[in-house]
Amino acid sequence: MRVFSVPMRVRFRGITVREGVLLEGAAGWGEWSPFLEYAPAEAAAWLRAAQEAADGDWPAPVRDRVPVNVTVPAVGPEQAYAIVRAGGCRTAKVKVAEPGQSLADDEARVEAVRAALEVDGPGGQVRVDANGAWSVDDAVLAVRRLDRAAGGLEYVEQPCASVEDLAAVRRRVDVRVAADESIRRAADPYRVRDLEAADVAVLKVQPLGGVRACLRIAEDIGLPVVVSSALESSVGIAAGVALAAALPELPHACGLATVQLLERDVVVDPLLPVDGALPVVRPAVDVAALEAARADPDRVRHWEQRLADVRALAAAEVLGQDRDA
Ligand SMILES: [Mg+2]
Repeated sequence: MRVFSVPMRVRFRGITVREGVLLEGAAGWGEWSPFLEYAPAEAAAWLRAAQEAADGDWPAPVRDRVPVNVTVPAVGPEQAYAIVRAGGCRTAKVKVAEPGQSLADDEARVEAVRAALEVDGPGGQVRVDANGAWSVDDAVLAVRRLDRAAGGLEYVEQPCASVEDLAAVRRRVDVRVAADESIRRAADPYRVRDLEAADVAVLKVQPLGGVRACLRIAEDIGLPVVVSSALESSVGIAAGVALAAALPELPHACGLATVQLLERDVVVDPLLPVDGALPVVRPAVDVAALEAARADPDRVRHWEQRLADVRALAAAEVLGQDRDA
């Protein structure tokens, strides 16, 4: 196992340094990078995904490229415009409802993003992600205003925190609703389906326990799927690409173009978009890059302990299942 630590170019979801573990198996490297605040029970699903990748147990692809969106953090309009222009993608995902910012800030960012997409002609898509920050009433107001600012939103992702509130918003706005945290951090991802709370399901490979686990959810949930990253290095992104490449249908651009948010990567050819899409490949780990991204010894110890805790928990669960059986 190798522990990596890479600075972020822009602060994103409160993170300025991305850390994680690369595990080597028979088929190559898998990434295990649960966010630092996640307890062992939640981080265990992430480890199953890393193990699956290291074992090489991915389904066969049905396409050779995966359209992706450029991600726009909660920055000012000029920077948002520049990010979209530099991204080369026809779909932009804009972070909104950032603590300390106003709806007017979000509108200005979304307007700038639409303007940047229009440079290459009409037909670009703008989606927004509120990470569950709004109340139902706030969401209804914000979605209407941002829909206007965007000249039409593709969808709004996780406007509110609870599945019930998502369903309430969905009934009150014309814009489609996507569920992210309501699927990947929920005890039951299918409540989104049962409560008719979303039009789109955002699936992330690590939090949901691997590519094959996500394929099962995609089949059972019966919604169009957008595969997104958990801010991984290209090793983790490759698992997202494998899922997106294996889905029977892929009507929306995926949120897998996030390697550019990192200052460094750990592979020879980072998974960066070309003409708005990622190639369906598994990039090789670069020993020199891995060395450059090596974490400090105290962080290595932290991750070794974390991995030991999660493995102990998984072993105890297996024992418990055997006993129950
Ligand atoms: Mg999201």
